[in-house]
Amino acid sequence: MFEKLKSAFSSAAQTLTERSLSEKELAELMAKLELDLIENDVAFDVVKGITDRLKVELQEEKIRRRSDMAHLVKTRLKGSIQAAFSNVETIDIFERIEATRRESDRRPFVVLFLGVNGSGKTTTVAKFAKLLANKGFSIVISAGDTHRAGAIEQLSEHSGRLGIKLVSQRYGADPAAVARDGVNYARTHKIDVVIIDTAGRMQTSTNLMDEMAKIVRVVKPDLKIFVVDALTGNDAISQATKFLEFTGFDGVVLTKVDADAKGGAALSIVSETKKPILYLGIGQEYDDLVPFIPETFVSNLFENSS
Ligand code: GDP
Repeated sequence: MFEKLKSAFSSAAQTLTERSLSEKELAELMAKLELDLIENDVAFDVVKGITDRLKVELQEEKIRRRSDMAHLVKTRLKGSIQAAFSNVETIDIFERIEATRRESDRRPFVVLFLGVNGSGKTTTVAKFAKLLANKGFSIVISAGDTHRAGAIEQLSEHSGRLGIKLVSQRYGADPAAVARDGVNYARTHKIDVVIIDTAGRMQTSTNLMDEMAKIVRVVKPDLKIFVVDALTGNDAISQATKFLEFTGFDGVVLTKVDADAKGGAALSIVSETKKPILYLGIGQEYDDLVPFIPETFVSNLFENSS
């Protein structure tokens, strides 16, 4: 996973070991690192943040031995990446659901899934429902995508296979009403979690984004999860920024990481939105949803680099 981004970091450390650092050379090396990171889907502002800091730190250090320099570069780069992740709060979803379940009025915990068409939202809804079912929570899914042809049938197939109740209306119905139906059903039947699928809003369409904001107002979700396709590179960042503005999501699922995603999107989304990545989608099966662990992501990137 994320092999290309990993090799960009290791190549920066490697190249520096082989040179003595004149001003000009330092500038050239930083330019190469910048290019490598941009090619690996790290957003420009994030790249600038990393290399500007590294430049200052390298200029301040009086390193004679090449191996010391390699170690320094690796440590500083790793520090920059770790800092990006440590600024972000983590969310213990299961604990939050448990806490809601302990409340006396036993309202359901409401999770809203957001993201553009094709990002893997519906598949992730099904994977997440299975994950919660495995943990012993009762679940209802709301088919809030009333726009895309086939979306309701797709969810109905998933929920049938998983043995999970689906609440739906006809195509063209108000998504906020479908979402509310799900919440009402859960209240009546004392169900722990409502998972709401939504239509794939293009972030450039203001009307559609407003409609999404309306669903948020109506059902007041406990957790809003933004689903984004890691393969979309820089567009993933602009989607994330726009969705954050309109919906104020709480966390992210990065999908299709199995399909040669470069890894920069993970770093950039966290740096730009300050929201945690909760899970990675690593395939098309129900169990292909794994928790994202920042420490593992960072140590994988720097594993074996000298
Ligand atoms: P939606 O339009 O956002 O609801 O997207 P879908 O859930 O319909 O997914 C679009 C396509 O991406 C489908 O073919 C899914 O099987 C596929 N997909 C979703 N998540 C993943 C993933 O993590 N890895 C891979 N390889 N494919 C995925």
